[in-house]
Amino acid sequence: VKERGKGHYRFYQPEMNADLLGRIQMDHAMRQGLQRGEFELHYQPRVDLRSGTVPACEALVRWHRPGQGLVMPGTFIGVAEETGLIALLGHWVLQNAIAQAARWAAEGRPLQVAVNVSALQFQQARFVQDVADALQQHRLPPHLLELELTESILIRDAEEALGKLQALADLGVELSLDDFGTGYSSLTYLKRFPLHRLKIDRSFLVSMPEDGADAAIVAAIVQMGHALSMEVVAEGVERPEQLQRLHALGCDHYQGFLFARPMPADALRTRLASPDGK
Ligand code: C2E
Ligand code: CA
Ligand code: CA
Ligand code: CA
Repeated sequence: VKERGKGHYRFYQPEMNADLLGRIQMDHAMRQGLQRGEFELHYQPRVDLRSGTVPACEALVRWHRPGQGLVMPGTFIGVAEETGLIALLGHWVLQNAIAQAARWAAEGRPLQVAVNVSALQFQQARFVQDVADALQQHRLPPHLLELELTESILIRDAEEALGKLQALADLGVELSLDDFGTGYSSLTYLKRFPLHRLKIDRSFLVSMPEDGADAAIVAAIVQMGHALSMEVVAEGVERPEQLQRLHALGCDHYQGFLFARPMPADALRTRLASPDGK
């Protein structure tokens, strides 16, 4: 406590707590933003080159923060996880992604939507029920929803996670393991858990094909995924050379700026409807 003259005390030190204060303010602004409709989902297509189709897209949250333009999740998801607001935000994302997938299905252009799930959200006792309720409410065929989980979710409480994943898989929801290779990479759960796909983290692609070690890791991931009957998705594909190499290594699906950046739902719809898919 700093003295500020007679009878006046400052109960915080600005330098020390600027970070904390900033996070509290951001939490407040996010809560308000959720109520005011400032959040929006963008969708990035996932491409299947063999069939030339877009079987799915990933929902990625953005925040139209007043006075700050379009704010990317890298700046606020971490804060939302710390303050616990991610439970509310995650619920909003799930509801909206499912509603959008249901609209596309009703328009006769079904497109699976993948939703990122954060650890705190997954750990909530009502998570599976939340998903089941949202699917039913929007009458979405469950296979049109994919949940993207990270390795940290799975290892935290493996037994409980296994039960939840099994329940989700029983609903008919598809499950993918996101950012594969960056976490703990315990291979035992890959066999035990009902996962439909692996998403190879972008960091392994950055220096491909020049870096032989990265290419070897990608090759191993692809083989392992296939041996366990999983599809393998490469994310963050930016250059034709990367794609060529990934294709040679047997990757199944691709996502990345080379094909498309994340975009609003209407833009994706328009793009998929045009003859050349561009
Ligand atoms: P992620 O799940 O690994 O999502 C992929 C990120 O890579 C996205 O960033 C996407 O825009 C970006 N990306 C896609 N293709 C390329 C590429 O070719 N090159 C490069 N450099 N980047 C590419 P974004 O949208 O900024 O999201 C960042 C992270 O924020 C996500 O990483 C995810 O962990 C988190 N996130 C986003 N939306 C949500 C959400 O709704 N819920 C939760 N829990 N987390 C989310
Ligand atoms: Ca993801
Ligand atoms: Ca990822
Ligand atoms: Ca990532």
